[in-house]
Amino acid sequence: MRQLIKTLLTLLLILVPVSLLAADAMQGQGRGPSLDSLFFSTKYGLTLLFVIVGTVLIWVGQMKRQLRIALMLLAFLIFGGILISVHPSPVCATTKPFIQGMRNPFLVMLVFVGAVTLLFNKSYCGTACPGGALQEFIYWLPFVKKGNRKEKVPFRISNAVRIGVTALFFIFVLTAGISIFEYINFFELFHWTIPGNALLLLTLTVVIVLVLVVSAFYYRPFCYFLCPMGLATWILEQFSLSRVRLDREKCTDCGICVHASPCPAVEGILEEKVIRADCHLCGECIESCPEDALDFGIRGR
Ligand code: SF4
Ligand code: SF4
Repeated sequence: MRQLIKTLLTLLLILVPVSLLAADAMQGQGRGPSLDSLFFSTKYGLTLLFVIVGTVLIWVGQMKRQLRIALMLLAFLIFGGILISVHPSPVCATTKPFIQGMRNPFLVMLVFVGAVTLLFNKSYCGTACPGGALQEFIYWLPFVKKGNRKEKVPFRISNAVRIGVTALFFIFVLTAGISIFEYINFFELFHWTIPGNALLLLTLTVVIVLVLVVSAFYYRPFCYFLCPMGLATWILEQFSLSRVRLDREKCTDCGICVHASPCPAVEGILEEKVIRADCHLCGECIESCPEDALDFGIRGR
């Protein structure tokens, strides 16, 4: 009950300033399509469907590997700019408001992702983000044998890089008015166009190729090392109503889940740390535990 109150308070704390911003946005000119036409669009309807399906599957313990791979492929095909426009991408929604001001498409994306993260952990990043889905789909490709996979990078290192890049972004925005994320935005891939600017073309090609190649060996590299939306949802995740839970009485500390999981979060779950690494709801740790000691549900069991 305490957790529910804490999460509702957090939700309120976020929604009050956001609704004030929304009221301002509705009055402003040139803020893009209206808020209701965005909220009730096919894109957000389908995104919500993916979030619900992903959350229900892990909640009932049915997030099997093959199902997960199919879900990732589907999310990439639907939200990857071919069927549904990626605009604004998670990177654009978190960074462009500091350059262009708060336009309605950014606001809707931020409110939507923020709200579902507070309720269902990183369910947006984990099930409906096309960038995350493509990286994870590549990670599970069968021709990259598990034995060939590199060790996990400690979360304190990947998170320090992610925080450092975001700090650099703010320094450049405040001093020069430019966004470094324009040069490293993996989601540019989903615009399916070639940038005219040679420097942009070079940096984006390097980043996109690197992310795609590294994804075969390391779980979601862009999410853990660079994504500003990933950083924002990691912060919100710490307050989320739901998460992977450990039944300490059942756990024998065998460590099978740590080895089976692709993410750096499971060590923190076993140590019952308050602040954990990002969990993308893949279900691998839950599936692997022979003692049934892990599940996904309302936090504070
Ligand atoms: S393995 Fe990691 S990402 Fe997957 S459900 Fe467990 S904690 Fe979350
Ligand atoms: S696999 Fe299960 S029993 Fe083994 S350490 Fe993980 S949670 Fe505990």
